[in-house]
Amino acid sequence: MNNNIILDIQNLTVEIDGKEILHNLNLRIPKSESYVLFGPNGSGKSTLINTIIGIPNYKVVKGKIFFEGKDITNLPVDERIKLGISMAFQNPPEIKGVKLLDIIKFCLKKKNEENLEPEHYELIEKLNLTSFLERNINVGFSGGERKRSEVLQMLLLRPKLVLLDEIDSGVDIVSLRLIAQEVQRYIEESGATALIITHQGEILNHIFIKRACVLLDSTIYCYADPQEIFKTIKQVGFEKCVECQKRVCEIDG
Ligand code: ADP
Ligand code: MG
Repeated sequence: MNNNIILDIQNLTVEIDGKEILHNLNLRIPKSESYVLFGPNGSGKSTLINTIIGIPNYKVVKGKIFFEGKDITNLPVDERIKLGISMAFQNPPEIKGVKLLDIIKFCLKKKNEENLEPEHYELIEKLNLTSFLERNINVGFSGGERKRSEVLQMLLLRPKLVLLDEIDSGVDIVSLRLIAQEVQRYIEESGATALIITHQGEILNHIFIKRACVLLDSTIYCYADPQEIFKTIKQVGFEKCVECQKRVCEIDG
């Protein structure tokens, strides 16, 4: 076992409602080395991270997922969160009758903390969510407000592995900057690792991650500078990424 690997995905095949979405996918992420994950629409990026966190209808039919060397393939979401994986969803749902404050308390309880501390209020304030504490979660929230509240809940869990799914789509530039700053600060302070999915790349202007890779046909291609990859994708499309396959060996070896 390699102690420097936080996430090790081996030969992963995933089905949703009997339809195969990912086939034999391999991905290894070293500790404290955050990654950006690119890929065309429908390539399975959301499927991959929903499977990592353990959403029940994402069925692993083959392969394994290891988190800090522990096989988590069959663990329920709750157990994975306790181990230190946390995620901000692409489309967080509205929950009538549950206030943002209730969810915050629930998140803290999971971390064995009962009450909000000054540092929690500070984070709520920084994410500009103080006036939302008594509101029903996501009900009538704008795109930016939803994503800010998602990131707040995620960071309160103080995860070791942060999964962000298209945090930059449908978000105004001010919200995106707030979110990116807080995620960046958290990663730097805690030494956590992030896997950040982006389709349109805007977050790259606000968060500083050294490496990116591309998901295409269930294969992870090309570990390189995020801005460099994004520029190439914009110029010539994703096909070019296939040619960089040899770079995968840098990290797979
Ligand atoms: P991405 O996030 O890269 O855009 P997704 O992981 O959302 O891709 O989707 C990957 C593929 O899985 C797509 O072809 C999509 O249509 C399919 N898919 C996603 N959810 C379901 C579902 N509930 N039932 C059937 N197919 C699905
Ligand atoms: Mg998606």
